Amino acid sequence: MHIQSQNRLLLGPGPSSVHPEVLKAMATPLVGHLDPYFLQVMSDTQGMLRKVFQTDNQLTLAMSGTGSAGMETVFVNLVEPGDRVIVCIAGVFGERMKDVAERSGAEVITVETPWGRAIEPDQVEKALKATPGVKAVAIVHAETSTGVRQPLEEIARLAHDYGALFIVDAVTSLGGIPVEVDKLGIDACYSGTQKCLGAPPGLAPVTLNARALEVVRNRTKKVQSWYLDLNMIANYWGEDRFYHHTAPISMIFSLHEALRLLLDEGLENAFTRHAQNGELLQSELQKMGLELFAAEGFRLPQLTSVVFPDGVNEGQLRKQLLEEYGIEVGGGLGSLKGRAWRIGLLGYSSQKRNVVLLLQAMKELLG
Ligand code: PLP
Repeated sequence: MHIQSQNRLLLGPGPSSVHPEVLKAMATPLVGHLDPYFLQVMSDTQGMLRKVFQTDNQLTLAMSGTGSAGMETVFVNLVEPGDRVIVCIAGVFGERMKDVAERSGAEVITVETPWGRAIEPDQVEKALKATPGVKAVAIVHAETSTGVRQPLEEIARLAHDYGALFIVDAVTSLGGIPVEVDKLGIDACYSGTQKCLGAPPGLAPVTLNARALEVVRNRTKKVQSWYLDLNMIANYWGEDRFYHHTAPISMIFSLHEALRLLLDEGLENAFTRHAQNGELLQSELQKMGLELFAAEGFRLPQLTSVVFPDGVNEGQLRKQLLEEYGIEVGGGLGSLKGRAWRIGLLGYSSQKRNVVLLLQAMKELLG
């Protein structure tokens, strides 16, 4: 079987459609992972990642693997067995954080809220007060299972007031809404390439500040995962250039091009584009009489959960949307399974013409 182009428009929760120049960059003839040209591409990529994360953190790089590898990197490096970690859960990816933190040996204290809402700072403060010696507070910035934007400022302040590190999942937020790592004092942050950064899945940008790095450097035990050990990875991405594992060269070419395009557009312009297209989609869906799942005031522009009335077979509609219109959207997760769609306007997919096309297709399908 030959691989064939399907010409899909990806409007699901990720991956998103990517700019043709990003695909072209992936097809750049290979060079070695220690070739001086490639090392320059890596350095450039790091510089651009710092701009997108809005940080000066020296330790800013792209881990090999998808967003979950970023999550795992942060927890396996920062957590030692028995450490207390508060994990905020407002959807599937908060739950995944809890699982990953526990597998890293953490004693996890959860702070939860019903799906569709954001975590309240008071809840986090209560947990911090009740638990001595919390090492880190972890939270998802853009909960892809619900479409909720989690405000971070207050929770960052609380974590620091209680001497804890602040860990943020920015897989769906980075490039779509501001992720102000230095301004908020986020100690460790990770993302993925296939959402608002506009590259295919395969890399997990990660950044750690000096405080978090000190925790990694002063561990009493070796990091359990050889592959994700930042002490070693940093020596390849840093000045020493020690071989650790063979870098996924084509993926880094693609990320470099996606970041170049994003910064050429300008971060602020990209945020405005995401905001405008999200607002258009959400207001038109409401005009069609459909319900938005995320609480008002906390809706992500780049990820919309829309709930269908009883009697609508969303699975059938989604199948038709793909087969007849070539458009992919995501189904609901958890309690939203079979009742909702998750529509992504992520990165290059966030274009007005895509919103218009999708709305027209939905009107035709819903009759
Ligand atoms: N965190 C969030 C908020 C996500 O949306 C996702 C993926 O959708 C992940 C983590 C995991 O990323 P990946 O599927 O790239 O491993």
